[in-house]
Amino acid sequence: MRCNITSVHLRPEEREAHFRESLQKKGIVDSEILRSLGLYESVVLQCKGEETDDKKLAQLEEILEFISRTKSRVAAGTYIEDPENCYCALPLTAVKDKLKAVKGALAGLYSKLIDHTAGVESFQQALIGQGYDVESEDPVKAELEKVKALGRLIGLTFGNGNIDTLSFVANIEKEIEELWEDHQKIKGYLQDAGKRIYNPAEAPFNPTKKLVGTPQDIYDIDRLMVLASMFFEFSNYAATTGAGMEEQTAVDFNKFPFVLTKKGRYVTRMSTGARGIVLLEYDDVDSIKEPFVEFVRAVSRFRPGTGTCSEHGNSLIGFENGRGSPVCMHGLAKELLPGMEYDFAAYTK
Ligand SMILES: [Zn+2]
Repeated sequence: MRCNITSVHLRPEEREAHFRESLQKKGIVDSEILRSLGLYESVVLQCKGEETDDKKLAQLEEILEFISRTKSRVAAGTYIEDPENCYCALPLTAVKDKLKAVKGALAGLYSKLIDHTAGVESFQQALIGQGYDVESEDPVKAELEKVKALGRLIGLTFGNGNIDTLSFVANIEKEIEELWEDHQKIKGYLQDAGKRIYNPAEAPFNPTKKLVGTPQDIYDIDRLMVLASMFFEFSNYAATTGAGMEEQTAVDFNKFPFVLTKKGRYVTRMSTGARGIVLLEYDDVDSIKEPFVEFVRAVSRFRPGTGTCSEHGNSLIGFENGRGSPVCMHGLAKELLPGMEYDFAAYTK
């Protein structure tokens, strides 16, 4: 049963004027847009000249295609936003950086566990020396919980992780690799649904490798890539998202933003609560392929707007072919992707 839309606040025919006004308020004028795109194009071309890996060359080609189409739209005086474009984000840099911190904490834990096996008493003494209250808590458990809490910040669930072996660190790295693979699959699903992807994780200005351009240039460019896309997908596996600015841009400019996370991961309250975002969780990324592709295809028949629905309040709504009756996107997701609604209550105590 679809939600009942009680009022409409922004219709598709009002959207372009609203979009242009929002750009104007932020000082994003066409000459600035073209300057950023020109700069980005030259950076990507330079990287392409130095790249030998076929897979990376293909990724750079995708970025060039995205830039070129956006440039043509601006030069032709057309609305910059393309319904076929999807900004597809994964904050892998944030995740990998925090992994280092977790590894450090684990290394400390291991050394203590080795002491622990040598003798509980000496281990307890060592912890007392660090200010632990060993009377009221099991020190090993307390240490493990601290490490787990740190791990959860980067989206790790640990499952029933066995801390007795060094394979624990290897398991975390494996989990991060699996998240990366999940994101690649989700990107593939969006392409199957007919979307042209811009994936900033594949962009040539990853600061952990090589910073090309100033942070200001990167902000301008990534924001522009969001603006040029009617669709926005974000694989959110870390509580500190690393893509919050992009998410908010997608909401402010009334895109169709879908955020996907894996069951068991905590998504921050602000991200969970953003009414303009459809937040979904999955257990097995392979099993969502067909329904998710079908859902993106279904949403592609709509043009975004805003309104109020009886179930979700102020909500992201869509109009079929830009003209039909308004449909709540949260309701549509519930209908086409049953069981994928994010359950924030699972994390409340
Ligand atoms: Zn609704």
